[in-house]
Amino acid sequence: MSQVKVRIAPSPTGDPHVGTAYIALFNYALAKKKGGTFTLRIEDTDRTRTQASSEKQIFDTLRWCGLNWDEGPDVGGPSGPYRQSERFDIYKKYAQELIDNGTAYYCFCTEERLNNLRERQIAMKKAPGYDRQCRSLSKEEVAAKLAAEESYVIRLKMPYEGQIVVKDALRGDILFDSDKIDDQVLLKSDGFPTYHLANVVDDHLMGISHVIRAEEWIASTPKHIQLYRSFGWQEPVWCHMPLLRNNDKTKISKRKNHTSLLWYIENGYLKEAMLNFLALMGYSYGDNKEIFTLEEMAQNFSFDKISLGGPVFDIQKLNWINNIYMREKKTTSELADLALPFFVEARFYSEKLNSIEEGNFHKILDISKESAINLKDLAEKSSVFFKDSFELPKVEVGMDAKEIKSIEKMYETLSDANVKLGISLFVSKLQKEDENTSQERIKELLHEVMEEVAEKPGRVIMPVRIMLTGESKGPDLGSIIHIIGKTRAISRIQSSLQKN
Ligand code: GLU
Repeated sequence: MSQVKVRIAPSPTGDPHVGTAYIALFNYALAKKKGGTFTLRIEDTDRTRTQASSEKQIFDTLRWCGLNWDEGPDVGGPSGPYRQSERFDIYKKYAQELIDNGTAYYCFCTEERLNNLRERQIAMKKAPGYDRQCRSLSKEEVAAKLAAEESYVIRLKMPYEGQIVVKDALRGDILFDSDKIDDQVLLKSDGFPTYHLANVVDDHLMGISHVIRAEEWIASTPKHIQLYRSFGWQEPVWCHMPLLRNNDKTKISKRKNHTSLLWYIENGYLKEAMLNFLALMGYSYGDNKEIFTLEEMAQNFSFDKISLGGPVFDIQKLNWINNIYMREKKTTSELADLALPFFVEARFYSEKLNSIEEGNFHKILDISKESAINLKDLAEKSSVFFKDSFELPKVEVGMDAKEIKSIEKMYETLSDANVKLGISLFVSKLQKEDENTSQERIKELLHEVMEEVAEKPGRVIMPVRIMLTGESKGPDLGSIIHIIGKTRAISRIQSSLQKN
């Protein structure tokens, strides 16, 4: 087989989409598996929708994922330029070639005629489409119109009959009736190419062997195949990946999911976890293995491991995977490097962080990572180690009856004289300990208090926790006190006691 060359061809029209990374991932995996190359091409022919910032975000986010390309606008390569806006002359030349070989034609129909035609078709309940009027213009008529500088587009001649077969690597043969497919505009009246022309010309000139793209492009593929035939070029292998879906199985959308890769970066998802999650969308590694690296996926890649069942983009699953990567795939010191910016961002940490020596920071991470879903959450979950001043939970607007009840219950417990005695007793016991007494020793002290005041854990441990952290849940009390030291612990408890 000739060399495998694949590409991702995003349009820079908005936030960098998770779907782009998804498609890039599968292209990348095939290229690596086959020792081929991976190209990034920017499809910016639609000047009205193109946003300057978007291209850089595509570069940055795909690089963040580790999906590096061998050829592209920023790295160059033998088939450049890799930005379609820099290739307009090429498309004009190829459109002309199709005119010359009789597989495309000039269409001089005005906007007005096309609108009337569409309205008539809709009124007659017919599928809207071009009626091919200009396809039968004689050479002389065309020459006269061109001489008169009438505005025109160039359209592709679709066959009047027969079928076009899309041979899809995942879906088998998909048949389209040629006469139901519009004579696609290839070159617009302003001389700009349409997506179809630019995409096919570039895939050919860039030597693309496999077009792996999203399912939504299937309807365009018969037009692309007709273009390959009109040029006399060999078509690539087609592979239309399943669409990513919301939980309700509709096409993934901003309203129901975070679709911008920037959101995942800003919230501290690890790139390895993100890729692993995307890889699981319709792809099975084998042996029920769910956690694997990009390299492992690439080595093990084949089309028959992809299923078409409409993979659901389930953030809970991503959270689960991200937690595994934070806990098991990173050393604490690697995690610390990744997490530090999130700690600094959560303002109240910055000052304290400098005073905490590295060992403590690592200990805190080891505790908080157990339940954290991302680095931002890791920083939030670690707040109990840093926040010396805090408010106790209060009943707030919007809370449900259960939450209100549990807060009321908490205050009732805290106002109980015996509970208060327990807290004071704990403070006086702690006072006699070393500054960073062990987690186990603190547990012992809490048990002693429980026995001495004859109360259950819920009436000793929970109140101490609230006084110490302002929260009813969190890491083991012993570990918090061990890490922050008894001086800070006692001062926190005392100031909470004063406030209540
Ligand atoms: N520019 C198209 C996109 O934005 C490329 C589709 C294709 O891969 O052919 O997805």
